[in-house]
Amino acid sequence: MARKLPSRDVVIIGLGWTGAILAEELTDAGLDVVAIERGPWRDTAESFNVGYAPDELRYAVRLDLFLRPAQDTLTFRNNLSQTALPIRQFGSFLPGDGVGGAGVHWNGQNWRYHPTDFRLRSHLTERYGASAIGDLTIQDWGVTYDELEPFFDRFEKIAGISGKAGNLKGAIQQGGNPFEGPRSDEYPLPPMQMTYAPTLFAEAARSVGYHPFPTPSANASAAYTNPLGLTMGPCTYCGFCERFGCANYSKASPQVNVLPVLMRRPNFEARTECEVLKINLDAAGKRATGVTYVDTSGEEWEQPGDLVICCAFSLFNVRMLLLSGIGKPYDPATNEGVVGRNYSYQTNSSVQMFFDDKTFNPFIAAGALGQSADDFNGDNFDHAGLGFVGGAGMNCVPTNGRPIQTRPVPPGTPNWGSAWKKATKESYNSAFSITSQGSSYTMRGNYIDLDPTYKDRFGRPLMRLTFDFPDNDIRMSSFANDKLATIAKAMNPRQIVANKTRSPYTVVPYQSTHNVGGAVMGADPKTSVLNKYLQSWDVPNVFVMGASAYPQNAGYNPTGTVGALAYWAAHAIRTQYLKNPGPLVQA
Ligand SMILES: Cc1cc2nc3c(=O)[nH]c(=O)nc-3n(C[C@H](O)[C@H](O)[C@H](O)COP(=O)(O)OP(=O)(O)OC[C@H]3O[C@@H](n4cnc5c(N)ncnc54)[C@H](O)[C@@H]3O)c2cc1C
Ligand code: SF4
Repeated sequence: MARKLPSRDVVIIGLGWTGAILAEELTDAGLDVVAIERGPWRDTAESFNVGYAPDELRYAVRLDLFLRPAQDTLTFRNNLSQTALPIRQFGSFLPGDGVGGAGVHWNGQNWRYHPTDFRLRSHLTERYGASAIGDLTIQDWGVTYDELEPFFDRFEKIAGISGKAGNLKGAIQQGGNPFEGPRSDEYPLPPMQMTYAPTLFAEAARSVGYHPFPTPSANASAAYTNPLGLTMGPCTYCGFCERFGCANYSKASPQVNVLPVLMRRPNFEARTECEVLKINLDAAGKRATGVTYVDTSGEEWEQPGDLVICCAFSLFNVRMLLLSGIGKPYDPATNEGVVGRNYSYQTNSSVQMFFDDKTFNPFIAAGALGQSADDFNGDNFDHAGLGFVGGAGMNCVPTNGRPIQTRPVPPGTPNWGSAWKKATKESYNSAFSITSQGSSYTMRGNYIDLDPTYKDRFGRPLMRLTFDFPDNDIRMSSFANDKLATIAKAMNPRQIVANKTRSPYTVVPYQSTHNVGGAVMGADPKTSVLNKYLQSWDVPNVFVMGASAYPQNAGYNPTGTVGALAYWAAHAIRTQYLKNPGPLVQA
């Protein structure tokens, strides 16, 4: 029997990027907010101290900052005919755990999705006709780029993003991304200093007619003070970024950019090492009454609240809704229901190059330091006759040259012994990879539900993920990889190795923690879980943040748009919901 606590205005589940943003916004509005986080407290000085922050074995290999499968995991299968089995070691994606969430150990590549991404089905139908979409279940988001623009701008200023605008209020800017949507303002910081490999990539991309620009980066190019008065130090290009906390206050994170202000507010409380089991509903199932959580001693608590905001990361948001009975679960057999529907991922490929005459010093790096080209992303090119929709960004972001895991060797090299050592020595300084990060479009059989067999340590069903790359995306990625190879050839390396995406998808090698969908936003409750303000259609005092709201994924990293949506939803709560609590959109 759970012990009942005094009620709060707002209960937030998870204190990562979105939890911190919502808590800051709603405490600023005068509300009494408690955030309940399953993992430990973390701050820069103690948790990512410069004395041990760059410990590759601890953080990149043993994954010290991440969720442990023994704590929580999911089952996986490629299609409905298979039996899903539990993931016992996270590989393809690495969920976060603890204060800051995955915002602690992300790279910081910070993108805005393209205007056409937000009205994808309408746009593609208008340009190519409905037949081009085939059996993909892609749909519009219910919100437009123009509506989100001020909130993209807000997140970029809070996070201190370094970059160069390519489109200022409709005027194309030299040196930026000419394909991006119109921006109301420049990035708050100039681009980072370029290292040799991205510089070479940009020259080569230009020589074959593409339009490279500095990758928008949450690794600060200079000292910066954000609108909350919080400061970032300039990045040292240490290369211990992805999978690590930044010891230097240079990578945007909840710890650096939001929490120091939030933690001083008397109307905020962070309750760590407490895992929310479910959102509680009233007898009619139409209103959330709060949450039930369990602390480290195994004791259960009921935390009542007027407003519940789920900020548990995309996958765990979906599971929380399924476990709490909020929204109708999706059934791929009947194509009915919404919760778990339209899960998608990211369709990546790469081209590796080995040179004889160049030295790259790959250890001078940062998680988002590089150059990109958007010529074949989204619908920036004519798809007529190509046999697929979607596209990919082409990126040269050599994130590190760390000693354990950065060992590029040509194919055919033995995995150990003197031949491997010789190849490692020859290639370490003279090889690098470029990547295409592609869209991931949805189809009927890719979804999330509750596993019928496997349970977690509290006896709750694990979430079950069913996913494979649609044929459309395999064709798109092959096309993008060929374009990437044209840039590689222009650099004139000794050897080029193309690694194309292949089906079936496997959860073993790391690909990206860009899991999206399952609790998607939209204009129609028959095909979406949330309305355009990320408010549950079924239980209006529940809002769900994060990339679970994406109806499909674009060829970009998700967090810039996650941040914009969080500020957009917070604004709607502050200006509309608090005045008149109830549905912000009539179904
Ligand atoms: C290695 C890595 C590199 C990445 N690089 C990039 C990048 O370069 N660019 C980009 O755009 N994105 C990147 N990402 C993704 C990015 O980190 C996420 O998009 C972002 O953190 C999502 O924010 P969120 O608030 O939805 O979830 P998170 O920041 O993960 O926060 C969710 C929080 O909820 C907590 N939680 C979950 N369930 C419960 C529960 N039941 N009870 C209590 N608490 C709970 C978790 O412990 C966690 O702290 C990367 C991710 C990883 C892992
Ligand atoms: S590369 Fe820069 S942002 Fe990344 S961890 Fe090092 S100092 Fe921090």
